[in-house]
Amino acid sequence: MKPIYLTIALDTPLDRLFDYRWTPQENEPIPQIGQLVFVPFGRQEIAGMIIALAEKTEVPEDKIKDVLAVRHQCPALDQRWLDLCRFAADYYQRPLGEVILPALPKNLRAAKPVSLDRNLKKLQQQASAQDSSPQQEAELNPEQKEALEHITATAKFAAHLLYGVTGSGKTEVYLQACARVLAANVQAQVLILVPEINLTPQLAGNISRRFAGIQIATLHSGMAEGERLLHWLAAHTGRAQIILGTRLAILASLPHLKMIVIDEEHDPSYKQQDGLRYSARDLAVWRARQLGIPVVLGSATPSLETWQHAQAGRYRLLPMRERAVKDAVLPVVKIVNLEREKPSEGLTQRVVTAIRQRLEKGEQSLLFLNRRGYAPVINCDACGWISNCTRCTAHMVMHKLDQRLRCHHCGLAQRIPRACPTCGNVDLQPLGRGTQRLEEGLQKIFPEARIFRIDADSTRLKGSAEAAFDTVHRGEVDILVGTQMVAKGHDFKNLTLVAALNPDSALFSQDFRASERLFAQLMQVAGRAGRAAQKEGGNLSEVLVQTRYPDHPLYHALMAHDYDRFANGLVEERQQAAMPPFIYQALLRAEAKELAIAIEFLQIAATCTAHPGIIINDPIPMTMTRVHNVDRAQLLIESSSRPALQAFLKEWIANLRGIKTRVKWGVEVDPMDV
Ligand SMILES: [Zn+2]
Ligand SMILES: [Zn+2]
Repeated sequence: MKPIYLTIALDTPLDRLFDYRWTPQENEPIPQIGQLVFVPFGRQEIAGMIIALAEKTEVPEDKIKDVLAVRHQCPALDQRWLDLCRFAADYYQRPLGEVILPALPKNLRAAKPVSLDRNLKKLQQQASAQDSSPQQEAELNPEQKEALEHITATAKFAAHLLYGVTGSGKTEVYLQACARVLAANVQAQVLILVPEINLTPQLAGNISRRFAGIQIATLHSGMAEGERLLHWLAAHTGRAQIILGTRLAILASLPHLKMIVIDEEHDPSYKQQDGLRYSARDLAVWRARQLGIPVVLGSATPSLETWQHAQAGRYRLLPMRERAVKDAVLPVVKIVNLEREKPSEGLTQRVVTAIRQRLEKGEQSLLFLNRRGYAPVINCDACGWISNCTRCTAHMVMHKLDQRLRCHHCGLAQRIPRACPTCGNVDLQPLGRGTQRLEEGLQKIFPEARIFRIDADSTRLKGSAEAAFDTVHRGEVDILVGTQMVAKGHDFKNLTLVAALNPDSALFSQDFRASERLFAQLMQVAGRAGRAAQKEGGNLSEVLVQTRYPDHPLYHALMAHDYDRFANGLVEERQQAAMPPFIYQALLRAEAKELAIAIEFLQIAATCTAHPGIIINDPIPMTMTRVHNVDRAQLLIESSSRPALQAFLKEWIANLRGIKTRVKWGVEVDPMDV
């Protein structure tokens, strides 16, 4: 019988596809596009995906290699999924194989496969063992009802911005929209994206209680490989109808996808920061358009990109300005002027008094300090030595519990020196304050209070973050100290005070998105307060922000809970300064042992391709130039036309590949940190 030639995508940096030969064996079905295969590549055997079939190939007969195996047990991925990958590869300027293969579970790509049959059986058992005490739908208020009606009005493509303050009941709208979609089509699948599953267990719990009998798959990077395969297969075979996942779930195979929800759409974690640097939010909108289905973007503080789309009418704005719980009101936000009230242990008297009032009523307080460790740096007063990392442009952070200095960028750790390494002075001083030091200070001021810290250090062990949040929910904590980890998702019913202790640093960051992020973070953390109605005789929900810049417009907008005004102000600024979303950007990053080498490469890159309609900025060192003994520089490319930028990038990257260099480089489209 005549052989067939398969064009295959492989996970290699080479930006091309590869032809292999397949010769029919007895009883073996003919391979299909979208099937996984194993092929020899160099000295390895690796997984690939069939992109096309042909009767001929350009590869000479003595050079062509044979396919080793076709993984028939796994149903082929469909054309629309392949188109999604092709779009992502084109748009983000990566080889197709580098998009397709990493999107599949590792165990599926392993040469010695796990038994798919056994996994599929396991799925069946799990489905029948699910919780059978369904949760009732909550009654919607008029704003929620209107949003729900708009979202479910059409099964065609439509992008909705569900713009609701924290506590306005966005989740309830998602769930009821989801229920309607599932009711309208017995096969329908719904994809719900969240920034981080471990920090939003309440949503996962709500979904499984609400949809008893419907199989739910979860997809996130923290899963064991075996589990990931199981859940991926559940989605791919259509058994799972609700898929809850983090950004990587946007690349899952979902043959009957009928709606996508992106919760907290502004969250930076939707952007992948290495390899294929995609935005899960942007891909979600593309995928919804491709399939002709609705997509819901939910946020109290939408990203400026999304906000601008809604203002321009491309997305439908669905505002929800009321809190959904009866009698719950927005917390009062107050500014505490640090120029007038000097803090002690990082706390002004106003904050101390406010905490005391909560202690008296048996209520909880949350102190938000986005800096872990004891002190961000230690120094020597005598000679000016400070604890710099020897490998990075960064300070070593003091961690008191294990007496270590740690670099949060490269992981370097060493004992805290007893004396100054330069002059021998034994009186080294911690400068500034992290969560550990704050916790220590609180213990001095409130010796009777139960103080609890939640940050990346206190929750390093798997599952410990969930246990920590449970402790707070059970009311075993009076004062909670936390980093941004505590800002997300959790609904602390007895919490009536939030204090942001030191948010100012982001106001003057070089990163033009810093203030947008700070506002989102403060809104989110403020939203932890006052989720329930005020108790009789209890305190009003209150948010205190300690700042040296009480007149900053960001804080004024925060006090007024007025994201509209804040966002519109930013939009105007960005438009005048020709910044995103009014201009499109790409970033070429270069890494080398020496900065000069990286810069030299970028200078060559800046001139190697003609560029009508494209602005090429000067190469500059990155703000944090050195990380782990590698120097980093960047070149920013801008254009007012997305197609012009895309066309330029294609040609440019092909030229860059031709430059002989030892510099490690990569291009990022729509970078978040410029
Ligand atoms: Zn010294
Ligand atoms: Zn370091």
